[in-house]
Amino acid sequence: MSEVAVQADDHLQACFDAVYAKCGAAGVRVERLPLTSPEKLLVQLQGSDRPWKLRVDCTWPRYTTLPSVVLLENKQRLAHVGYGGTVCVNDAQGLSLDLDQREDVIASTVLEAFSVLERSAVDAAGDQAEFYNELEGYWGGLPGIVLARSAVNRGDARLVTAYEGGNTAAWYFVETRGSPPPEFDVKKLRAARAAYFTLPTPLEPPPPGSRLDHPFLDTVLAALTPAQQQVWQQVVGASTNGVRKVAMLLAMPRRDGGHSEIGLAFSVYRGRPVAHSEFTPFLVSRHTPEYMRERGGAAVALRSKHVVIFGCGAVGSEVADALASCGVGKLTVVDPDLLQPDNVFRHRLGPLWTGVRKAGGLKHTLEPRYPGLTVHDAPMGAQEWLDKNSLDGVDGVVLALGLPTLERVLTRRLRESGLDLPVVVTWLEAMDLGGHSVLLRTGRPGCLDCVYRDEEGAADLAAQTSFLAPGQKVTRNLTGCGSIFVPYGALQSRQTALLAAGHMLEALAGMPAPSYRFWVGSGNEAAAQGLKSTAWWVNAHTTSATTATHMVFGRPCSRCRGAAS
Ligand SMILES: [Zn+2]
Repeated sequence: MSEVAVQADDHLQACFDAVYAKCGAAGVRVERLPLTSPEKLLVQLQGSDRPWKLRVDCTWPRYTTLPSVVLLENKQRLAHVGYGGTVCVNDAQGLSLDLDQREDVIASTVLEAFSVLERSAVDAAGDQAEFYNELEGYWGGLPGIVLARSAVNRGDARLVTAYEGGNTAAWYFVETRGSPPPEFDVKKLRAARAAYFTLPTPLEPPPPGSRLDHPFLDTVLAALTPAQQQVWQQVVGASTNGVRKVAMLLAMPRRDGGHSEIGLAFSVYRGRPVAHSEFTPFLVSRHTPEYMRERGGAAVALRSKHVVIFGCGAVGSEVADALASCGVGKLTVVDPDLLQPDNVFRHRLGPLWTGVRKAGGLKHTLEPRYPGLTVHDAPMGAQEWLDKNSLDGVDGVVLALGLPTLERVLTRRLRESGLDLPVVVTWLEAMDLGGHSVLLRTGRPGCLDCVYRDEEGAADLAAQTSFLAPGQKVTRNLTGCGSIFVPYGALQSRQTALLAAGHMLEALAGMPAPSYRFWVGSGNEAAAQGLKSTAWWVNAHTTSATTATHMVFGRPCSRCRGAAS
């Protein structure tokens, strides 16, 4: 043996010794089998009713996964065992391992694989519920598997359209009536007829070692209801074009909730599958708004919510984006202004939208960005919108105008609507001082005028929560009176927008109002500019949102009458 080979064998022997010790401690009998690979260990562990022959990759560490363990000579469908035998020991999320104990990690992995296999054997002897929970993973290992992308929604059996070929997948599925999602470039692709079926119970995929073939299709056809049979006839029937390809999407229930989705394509001729057709299995990547929301951390329940945002500037545009990204399904964005070059660096819209109305720009930017989102753009002032539109069906209102007087007028007007709507008013302070978000309900005590009071409770032009001491000039101009602006950066507007969006989401989930939230910046930039902050800004660093809410709303208010608790 060469020196390298001896070293490799020493390493394998050390790995086996660790496996042996670990299995011994767990009462599992293990032996090493000969294998002519310098990197892989072959071991056999004695299970409760069968031996498990495992091939263990000892080249670990790769830091992102555990060492791979492959079950050999298996002919059975087992949960957490891929078609090719790979045992799924760990999803590797948040994996943190001791890199100085490599053999120990390998031994622990082998023992964990053993217990997975023992549990899977029990599942296989029973109802196989766990195997069918993991069906998509198994199906994805079938020989000849290709990627299919599907924008087909769950629902009744029906004819759908499949497109073959393309840049990002081998097949694309779309509703026959309806436009494909923007990420599906199917215009130049050949269309095929396809069926979508939901089956009441899962069907057995080919066992390890077998390809997808006729028998699987036969079990599908045998499981179809009369209504599904009719759809099947539409897919295969009435064509004189000779041999053609058709496809099928199948949804099957999982015991742990939801459905597995798999698919296949094959050829038909005169209403029947071609005898020696090649069957192509699909790994289905789902592109429906519901699925992407669920998997992407957005709330499906928010899809029915409608939020109106007045003001689409640096803060309002980010509020719109944040609410859409969390799953809110309907937004109305109200703003008469055009995007200016000055806005670009702190606005959700990019330079392509300069000279265009911000509201329309947001519609065209956000709708393709968030599947299932509808944005109504209203290029007009807030008062005009309220004159022309009803708040029926609206679930929440955000005011991000940066205009305190108008915001007070609007909240008074909203209070007169007779509805009980959550209203979030948000604004930010100059430079890096911080930002504010106030949550009110139009039908309850707590109003924006509560905020605009002095320490004695008398009406005041400045919010009692102001961070910037009154009477200071903060606007700057670089090119003359026509372009005066308040200096603050994109981080400040985004942080304020996230605060406001979070406030609105909690309100939609039932959070009581009124409530006041804020974030406090370092104030370094403001200090460098010689700006004076308030005592409240200093105190805010160590004040909780609960205390601040009480400070703002805890006293009786002549306008909304009651004192909030
Ligand atoms: Zn009030």
